[in-house]
Amino acid sequence: PSTGGKPDVIVVGGGIGGLSTAFALAREGLRVRVLERAKEFGEVGAGIQIAPNCTRILDEYGLLDEAKSLGVLPENIVMRDAVDSRELTRLDLRDLERRYGFPYMVIHRSDLHGIFLRACRRAGVELLTDRKVVDYENTGAGARIRLEDGRTEEAPLVVAADGLHSVARRKLVGDEVVSSDYVAYRAAVPIEQVRENGIAEKDVTVHVGPRCHFVQYALRGGEMFNQVAVFESPKALAGQEDWGTPDELDAAFAGTCDTVRKGIPLMWRDRWWQMLDRDPIETWVHGRIALLGDAAHPPLQYMAQGAIMAIEDGWVLAKHYARHAAAADAAADATATATDGDVRPDLDAALAAYEAVRVEHCRRILTTGRAWGELWHLGGVERLQRNAIMRARDTYDYHFTDWVYGPTALTPDEEPPMFTPVPLASAAIEDGAEEDGA
Ligand code: FAD
Repeated sequence: PSTGGKPDVIVVGGGIGGLSTAFALAREGLRVRVLERAKEFGEVGAGIQIAPNCTRILDEYGLLDEAKSLGVLPENIVMRDAVDSRELTRLDLRDLERRYGFPYMVIHRSDLHGIFLRACRRAGVELLTDRKVVDYENTGAGARIRLEDGRTEEAPLVVAADGLHSVARRKLVGDEVVSSDYVAYRAAVPIEQVRENGIAEKDVTVHVGPRCHFVQYALRGGEMFNQVAVFESPKALAGQEDWGTPDELDAAFAGTCDTVRKGIPLMWRDRWWQMLDRDPIETWVHGRIALLGDAAHPPLQYMAQGAIMAIEDGWVLAKHYARHAAAADAAADATATATDGDVRPDLDAALAAYEAVRVEHCRRILTTGRAWGELWHLGGVERLQRNAIMRARDTYDYHFTDWVYGPTALTPDEEPPMFTPVPLASAAIEDGAEEDGA
C-alpha cells in the first residue's frame, strides 16, 4: 500500500471498527484511506472486554503481544446478585483460554484504538481527520462520498464504519435507533481508591440486580479500576427528553449490596451513555457501499461483543477479498499471454460473502444481548428463579459460549449452532454418552 493517489477503499469512520478494517484490507495489499470527522483520532470511555474470538484475530494480525502488554488477563468472570452479593455463576478464564486457544482480555479503549492506529500507520493506510462525510452514492464502478465542505471522493469500495448514528445507514436503510430506556455511567479510577470496597481485583465482576447492573475490572496492568453502572431510567419511562441524568444514578443503586453502592460515588457524572441499539437488518451491502461495525449492527453492550463484532467484520471482509484476489491472480496467470493480465478481484462476490456470514452472526448477538439484559435486570420472584437456574450451571459448561468465543466463521456453514436449552437430566445422559464414546 502507498499513500496519495487514488485509494482502492475509502473507510468512513476511524473508530475501532474503521481502523481495524482499514488495517485488515491494507494487509491484503489494498490502498486504504480513512476519513474521520473528528479533529483527532481517539476513543472516549474506559475499559473494553475482548474475548477469545477477538484475541485470536489480534494474534493473526501480530498485535496480540502489544495488546497483552497494555491490557489485563483477568482470572474469572464472576456474576453476582447485586442485592445480596451471592455468586450466581462464573467463567474460569484460564480454562476458557485452554478451550478456545486465546485469552480473554480487558484493555483500555484508547489502548486498543491506539494499537490499530499504529498498525494502520505501519501498513501505509492514509489517515485523514476533520473529514465529515455527509452523503454516499454508487457510481457503477464504485462509490462516491461527499464531505461537509462539498468535496467528493471516489473508490471502488466504500466501507461505512461511522457508528450508531451512521449517515450511511440513514441514507441506505432509513431506520431509527431503538431506546432501551437504560443508561450507562463509566469510570476508571486509580485502584487505591477502591481497595477497601470489597472488590475482586483479579476478576471481571458483574453484579446483576433489579433494573440495574454493575461491571468492574482492573485495567492497565492492574493500576486502574474500571466500573460501568447501568440502570433503567424512570425519566425515560415517563417519556422525558433529558433522561439518565446523574440524579437518577444514586436512586437506581440504593438497594444494592455494599460493594456496588461504594462504587457509585466514583462514577463520572459529566457524561453518560443512553443505551440504544437498532433492530437487526438483513442488507448491509448496497452496491459498493458496505455497512460495518455499529453502523451495521449496534448492540446493547451486554454480550460485550460490539467492538469485537466490528473487528470480526473487517477480518472476514479482508479474508474474502484475499480469496477473490488470489483467484483473479490465478486467472490472470492463465490468460497472461492472451490479454494484458488485468483480471480484477471480484469485489461484489467478496461483499456478498461478507454479508452472507456476518449478518446472521451479528443478528444472534443483538437479539441475545437484548434477552441477556432482560435476564440480568429481573426483580421479585423472577430474580430468585433466575438465581437458582444460574447457580445450577456447571462452571465448565461451554454450551453458552462456543458460538460466540469460537473461531470467527467465514461461511454460514462454519457458524457453530447456538445453544438450545435441554433439560438438565438429558444433558447429563448425553455428556455421559460422549464420555463413553471417547
Ligand atoms: P464507533 O466507535 O462509534 O466509531 C465511529 C467513528 O466514526 C467515530 O470515530 C466517529 O467520530 C466517526 N464518524 C461518525 N460519523 C462520521 C461521519 N459522518 N464522517 C466521518 N466520520 C464519522 N464492545 C466490546 O466488544 N466489548 C465491550 O466490553 C464493550 N463494552 C461496552 C460498554 C459500553 C458502556 C458501551 C456503550 C459499548 C460497549 N461496547 C463493547 C460496544 C463498542 O463500544 C462499540 O460496538 C464499538 O466501539 C463500535 O465501533 P465502531 O468503530 O463501529 O463505531
